[in-house]
Amino acid sequence: MDYLTRARELHDAAIQVRRQLHQNPEVGFDLPETMKLVKSKLDEFGIAYENLADTYGVVGTLGDASKGKTLLLRADSDALPIPEKSEHDFVSQVENKAHLCGHDMHTTILLMVLKMLKENEDQLEGQIKFLFQPAEETLNGGKLMVEKGILENPKPDAGMALHMWPMSKEVNILVSRHEVLASALNFRIIIKGVGSHGAMPYMGIDPVFVASQIINGANAILARELPSNKGASLSMGMIEAPGGAVNVIPDTVIIEGTSRSLYPESAQHVSERLPEIIEHIAKAHRAEASYEVLAEVPALINTPEISDQTLAAAKEVLGDEYNVTETEPDLASEDYAHIASHLPESCYFMVGAPLPDAEGKTYPVHNPLVQFNEEALVAGSAAMAQAATNWLRDNK
Ligand SMILES: [Zn+2]
Ligand SMILES: [Zn+2]
Repeated sequence: MDYLTRARELHDAAIQVRRQLHQNPEVGFDLPETMKLVKSKLDEFGIAYENLADTYGVVGTLGDASKGKTLLLRADSDALPIPEKSEHDFVSQVENKAHLCGHDMHTTILLMVLKMLKENEDQLEGQIKFLFQPAEETLNGGKLMVEKGILENPKPDAGMALHMWPMSKEVNILVSRHEVLASALNFRIIIKGVGSHGAMPYMGIDPVFVASQIINGANAILARELPSNKGASLSMGMIEAPGGAVNVIPDTVIIEGTSRSLYPESAQHVSERLPEIIEHIAKAHRAEASYEVLAEVPALINTPEISDQTLAAAKEVLGDEYNVTETEPDLASEDYAHIASHLPESCYFMVGAPLPDAEGKTYPVHNPLVQFNEEALVAGSAAMAQAATNWLRDNK
């Protein structure tokens, strides 16, 4: 089957689905309307599915397991809890929720891919397992999918997923052969001291002073304990001192932050050392500190063979229509890493989807003004369908 031609034929119908999802965003783990639409399309395509245990995740298979291996195709389907500020015909109809990470595009692309693979089912030399996943934006959805059994019955031999890249200069396919996205460790620190008058700090234990020592001290992990070619970042973007004032030392300070790295061993080191540094600095100054992990996701790392095969398949199907190039990692994070880190082989690729606004500007994902080029539905679905078909054929 010529997947590019078929994707073009499916494009108008796909745009309808994508815009319906875009106008009706849902966030987090509960995606009832989103998954209702996904299921109605799967019904229409004659593809069987079920919910993954008691979650809103939708899973199923097609093809023939006796002919070869099993490849997992995963799309995330949740929106963000922020308002959309663009002006177009199908803006979000829900207050303070919007598909600003393009997961409406991902969901639509996976539906297109499954329809094409179903039409080509007797030619598939193995089995496709699919997953429409909730709660990617919490960085905990992929983890829940693993806990609820996405890696069993059947067990996938490899995985594939994609993401929109609206800052790309054109609609294209971008594949990394190694690290793709960074790990994320999101944390909260609560420092308890003893409040006092600002003129008499010796009467209390100043948690603001301790917070400043912790912020400085924790950065020594990066500067003194990691090799400079295996770096990590550490940002404490939220600090609150409730009850504090110009002349009042409060009794509590709350800090929230995130650490990122492309290198699993560095992420692991920060994850171990951060709570130790916090505890000991607090103790050194007679304060108490608690440390809570809000979310933790590994770095997303592609394996080279399936990445080379994806590059070749995308070039094969897209020909001169869309560019396919190798790319470098980015420091955002992605909770597909919870799934990919358990798979022997995985390829996660970017689909360029720039749509400049009236002033000619494009914006990154999560920006209230970001827009996505719907041409990416064609390039993304053709590339994924071809890559999946070829991977099954070449890895029997
Ligand atoms: Zn996002
Ligand atoms: Zn995303």
